[in-house]
Amino acid sequence: MVTTTRGTNGKSPEVMESLNPATGEILGTVPVAGGDDVASAVARAREASRTWGAMSVGDRRDQLVAFRRALAGRAEEMAELIHRENGKPRLDALLEVMSALAHLHHAALRADKVLRPHKVSSGLMANFRSTISYHPFGVIAVIGPWNYPLFTPMGSIAYALAAGNAIVFKPSELTPLVGQLLGEIARASIAIPDVLVVVTGDGRTGAVLARAEVDKIAFTGSTATGKKVMAAAAERLTPVLMELGGKDPLIVAEDADVDKAAEAAVWGAMTNAGQACISVERCYVVEPIYDRFVEKAVGEARQVRWGADDEASIGAITMPRQVDIIREHLEDAVARGAKVLLGGADQIRGNFVPPTVLTGVTPEMRIMKEETFGPILPIAKVASAEQAVEQANATRYGLGSAVFGKARARELADKIRAGMTSINSALAYAGVPALPFGGVGDSGFGRIHGDEGLREFSRVKATTEERFPLPVALLSFKLPRGTYDRIKSTIHQLYGGGMVDKLRDKLPF
Ligand code: NAP
Repeated sequence: MVTTTRGTNGKSPEVMESLNPATGEILGTVPVAGGDDVASAVARAREASRTWGAMSVGDRRDQLVAFRRALAGRAEEMAELIHRENGKPRLDALLEVMSALAHLHHAALRADKVLRPHKVSSGLMANFRSTISYHPFGVIAVIGPWNYPLFTPMGSIAYALAAGNAIVFKPSELTPLVGQLLGEIARASIAIPDVLVVVTGDGRTGAVLARAEVDKIAFTGSTATGKKVMAAAAERLTPVLMELGGKDPLIVAEDADVDKAAEAAVWGAMTNAGQACISVERCYVVEPIYDRFVEKAVGEARQVRWGADDEASIGAITMPRQVDIIREHLEDAVARGAKVLLGGADQIRGNFVPPTVLTGVTPEMRIMKEETFGPILPIAKVASAEQAVEQANATRYGLGSAVFGKARARELADKIRAGMTSINSALAYAGVPALPFGGVGDSGFGRIHGDEGLREFSRVKATTEERFPLPVALLSFKLPRGTYDRIKSTIHQLYGGGMVDKLRDKLPF
C-alpha cells in the first residue's frame, strides 16, 4: 500500500510510503525514481555487468553462494518484512524466503553445466567444427509484482545473475522495502558493486525502465501491464520475458482420491489469500464424485483461519482495490445463479476476505473467466473428464493447472493447454527448481527456473570453425564447372533417393 508525496519546491525528490495492508501502519518511505535515477541505475549496472559477465562461471557461482548465505542469514528479517509489507502470515513469508533460496542455489550450481559451450554436428559441412555458446545479455530489467515479492523476482534475478547479467530491479510499489532489503543483502555479499541495483517507485518508474537502455526485460505482473511493457520495449526492440496472470483450472476425475483432491483444491485456491498467479481459480469435478468433493471442500475451507493474528493461515488482501474486484466477481456470480456455501461478499471485512466456496458456477460468470486473486474456490460440475478439459481450456490464459485421478491423469494433464500441470497435487511444480516456469497465451511467454530459465537470460551464439579445407570450396564464387550437376545428383541420392534414411543411424546428422 502506498501514498505519494511530491517535492514541494519542484526539486526535492518525490517519495512514497509503504504501508502494512493489515494495519495501515507506515513501514517506511522510499524514493520514486524518475528518468535520471533509472538511467543512472542502468549505467551502474552496465558497468558492473562488464566485470560480472567476464568472470568465470565458477567465480560467479562463489559470489552467488555468498549472496545465498547472506540471504539465508537474514531469512527471518526478510520474512518479517514480507509479512508486514505484503500481509501474508509469517510462516508463508518464511516459506517464500526458503523457496527463493532454493532457486538461488539451483541457478548458481547449474549454470556451469547448462551454459557450457557444446559441439553440434556440422552435417554436410563436415570439415567444420560447430559449437553453440551462451553469453550474458548485459543488463536485465526485472519488474516484479507484490504477491510473492521475493520469490517471484528471484525467479528471474537468480537465473539472470547466474547467466552473467547485472540487474536493475523495480519492485512493486506495494512491496518496495522487500526489494530494497534484497538489494542491500546483494551489496553486502557480492564483491562486484551494482550487480543488483534496486530502483523504487510506482508504475511510472516501471514505464521508464521499460524504455531504458537495458538488454532484456523480465516482467512479472498482470496481462494488462505486460502488454504496455511489451509495447514500450518494442521502441528499442528490447527482448521481453512475460510472466503474466492466470485462471488456473483443477480437474477432478472419477477415480481421484476425493479427500486429497478437496484438500489440495482448498489450499491451492486459498494459500496466500488466493493471491498467486498459479492459484487454483476454477475447479471442475465429474458428476459421480461431485457431491462428496463439495462436502469435503467446504469442510476443509471452514477450517482455514483468516485474519491478522499469528494463528491465521491467510492474511490481508495486499492491494486494497483487489478487494473490490473480488466482491464484484462474487456478486456477479450470485446474480447469475451461483450458490455461496461458505464465506461470501457480505463477510468481507476491510482488506480481509473470508475463505469462500461457490457452486453452480457457469462459464459466462466473471469468476470463471477473469483473474479473481482472492481466497475463492468456485466448483463446477461436469459430465466427464473430457468436458472438464474442454472447459479448462476455454480461456486465453494458460499458466498452471492440476489434475486429480489415477488411470487417465497423465493423459488429461497433457491435454490441458498450460505451461505447467501438477498431477495429484496443486502448485507442486513451482517447488521444483529444475522445472521451467511460465505460461502460454495471456499468461505470457518465456521461461524462468530450470535450464530453460538460465538460457532465457543468455544470448545464444553459433560458431563454425573450419577444421580443414575441402578440395572444392563450396562457399566461394570459384566453383568448378559441373558443380550444378553434382549438386543436383547429390540432392537426388541423399534426400530424394533415400540415402539419408538408410544411413540415418550412421551419419552425424
Ligand atoms: P501489475 O499491476 O501489472 O504490476 C507489476 C509490476 O509492473 C509492478 O512493479 C508495477 O509497478 C509495474 N508497472 C505498473 N505499470 C507499469 C508500466 N506502465 N510499465 C512498466 N511497469 C509497470 O501486477 P501486480 O498487481 O503487481 O501483480 C499481480 C499480477 O501479477 C497478477 O496478474 C498475477 O497473476 C501476476 N503474477 C504473475 C506471475 C507469473 O509468474 N506468471 C507471478 C506473480 C504474479 P507498481 O506496482 O509500482 O505499480
